[in-house]
Amino acid sequence: MKCYMPTIILEEDNVVFSSEQIFKKLGKKALIVTGRSSAKKSGALGDVLDVLTKCDIGYEVFDEVRENPLIVQAFNGAIKGIDCDFVIGIGGGSPMDTAKGIAVLIKNGVEDYIDKLFGKKDYDAVPVVAIPTTAGTGSEVTPYSIFTDEQKNTKVGMARRVFPKYALIDVKYFLSMPKKVRISTVVDAMTHAVESFVSTGSNFYSKLYSEKAMELFGEYKEYLFEDSIEPEIFKHFVRAATLAGIAISQTGTSLPHSLGYPLTFYYSVPHGVANGIFISEYLKVCVEDDVEKVLVATDFDSLDELGDYLVKVIKQVTPNLKISDEEIMKYCETMMQNTRKLKNHKGEVRFDDVLTIYRKSLEHYE
Ligand code: NAP
Ligand code: FE
Repeated sequence: MKCYMPTIILEEDNVVFSSEQIFKKLGKKALIVTGRSSAKKSGALGDVLDVLTKCDIGYEVFDEVRENPLIVQAFNGAIKGIDCDFVIGIGGGSPMDTAKGIAVLIKNGVEDYIDKLFGKKDYDAVPVVAIPTTAGTGSEVTPYSIFTDEQKNTKVGMARRVFPKYALIDVKYFLSMPKKVRISTVVDAMTHAVESFVSTGSNFYSKLYSEKAMELFGEYKEYLFEDSIEPEIFKHFVRAATLAGIAISQTGTSLPHSLGYPLTFYYSVPHGVANGIFISEYLKVCVEDDVEKVLVATDFDSLDELGDYLVKVIKQVTPNLKISDEEIMKYCETMMQNTRKLKNHKGEVRFDDVLTIYRKSLEHYE
């Protein structure tokens, strides 16, 4: 049985300001990786720049990461930060994931970058500090880095495993999220916890994290109908996301994540919503005892109740989807080729099962 979590997690108010010594230890120049605007809006970028300036640490800012980042963005970021000693990723999963890819390329050079990120040979990375602004992916504590591959028409995981050295978590950075982002990312964290809990790779330790994440979600879930959430309450969602991140670092995710990728790629459905759509139908093909425990932890009486709740939450922010049966068949065929995800599912799952999950889940959004 194994549990590995090398990331040092610091969660407190004004954590960026109390981390001066950490930044000083990491080097003389930082590359800051962000999306277009959220790092500024959340206040995190301003705080980081203040602290780096105070510590006399030089920096570059690469603020071109888009949602569901393209692989080439890791290349572009690495060019900008090639002389930096470490990388600070600020934002949701997109900038934090890209920061990890950039860290590999800064350490090893940008030539043959596809091979360095996705090839068989292993490559190290310069240190990464992750500062999350969405309570979703858990990327601040996972070794994963997900990119959009325009050649393969899907999302792909980087082959290199890069755990951030530090995760600096301050609830104030999450408060600027619009409701749509908040709902999608909290639902993503919930799916991580559930998928990890029922996974073949789960064990006593990973379940401590996934179960606690589900319990926090269960306790505060009705707040997802509110237009705004007080920091004292929201911190529980933040913790659930990080706990679920630790859990998937041990087990990976499972079928709902794979089923959701085409919805994001072809229909721009936000990542968390794309997974959340499939969770209750997916649980119908999972081991009964596991499902019972998921329902207890998330505080639902039945799978139907869980399903109805998710439809209501997701419909607040998701327009209806029109997807032809032909498309659905194509996505299910792709799913059946994803051996990595299939191996995380306990028992056998057939094409017809996947098709039923897809069709029944989407019925609510037509
Ligand atoms: P995201 O794609 O990073 O961001 C979504 C949107 O939210 C962007 O428009 C972003 O703005 C905005 N935003 C983020 N924080 C905000 C804040 N505090 N205030 C206002 N706006 C804010 O969203 P995400 O769901 O966190 O990440 C999704 C990505 O992570 C996907 O590519 C997914 O595949 C990947 N993922 C990774 C892991 C992992 O373990 N590494 C796990 C699951 C998913 P800006 O563009 O301005 O930043
Ligand atoms: Fe996810």
